[in-house]
Amino acid sequence: MSIDVAVVGSCNLDFVVNVDAIPLVGQTILGGDLAQIPGGKGANQAVATSRLGYSSALIGRIGDDDNGKFLKQCLEDDGVDTSFLFETEDVPSGIAMIAVQADGDNSIVVSPGANARLTPDDVENIPFLETATVVLTQSEIPIETVIATGRNTSGIFVWNPAPAPEEIVPLELLDVVDVLVPNQTELSLLAATGPINSVEKAISAAQTLPCASVVVTLGADGAVVVANNDVMHIPAPFVRPVDTTGAGDAFCAALAGGISQGNDLIVSVEQAVRVGAATTLFAGAQSSLPTLEQVTERLEGG
Ligand code: ADP
Repeated sequence: MSIDVAVVGSCNLDFVVNVDAIPLVGQTILGGDLAQIPGGKGANQAVATSRLGYSSALIGRIGDDDNGKFLKQCLEDDGVDTSFLFETEDVPSGIAMIAVQADGDNSIVVSPGANARLTPDDVENIPFLETATVVLTQSEIPIETVIATGRNTSGIFVWNPAPAPEEIVPLELLDVVDVLVPNQTELSLLAATGPINSVEKAISAAQTLPCASVVVTLGADGAVVVANNDVMHIPAPFVRPVDTTGAGDAFCAALAGGISQGNDLIVSVEQAVRVGAATTLFAGAQSSLPTLEQVTERLEGG
């Protein structure tokens, strides 16, 4: 079984309600109609990879509930291999409860459910970790499982430390990472620096990390690549974003997909900044994820 990109990560059902204003402690308010949307960074990145035309699989855990069945079906509908998306007995699937305020600000409660039960043992003996050209992970599963994934990966191991880890990241993890892909907030935590608000600060913080290659995403400023002695800033195309949700996930998927085809890291990042920018032109986390043709259409049309 060979696959371009194996994603090891989370799968959530997002319950989204629009509200005038996020409720205060003790307050009950009425909101709009409930929208139930597949999410979770692992699932988003697996779907993004598949839409871009690379073969992908999601290795993770869902609960033994209707939400889990729905999430699995959505992944399969998008062409993601779910052979190693394990069902977890007596545990609910991961969910996120999201209240979105009229001005776009939100407040989110995540119940990791089955995602928190993905153990290091689960990632032993997964054929995809030996055969996939690239293995991609994030931080919505236990950190021990991310480390075990890195150790069991035969190909290129990419870690997107999102959301920003609350615990100290063990050095042994950074040692097994081939390509680290943090955003500015995640980089400032990993490198223990102050806020990173310029290309120069991103470069000097990335240079302190022991990973072979670091690719820092910088929103509208694109990305920087710090690999061995090479440092390069790759600007993003100018766009007028509608919704930046999903841009980081699309970026990681495009980067992993590009590397899986044997493309040079810089070439892969050049493609990833275009894919990230194109994703900001549509609303939603998974609904905004483009195919390669749509990336060109959206950027030329915008
Ligand atoms: P995250 O959402 O994970 O914090 P970023 O905001 O850094 O990630 O965005 C990831 C990528 O998406 C960027 O590197 C860039 O390619 C693209 N992107 C995000 N916001 C913009 C923007 N305002 N203009 C152009 N590209 C953007």
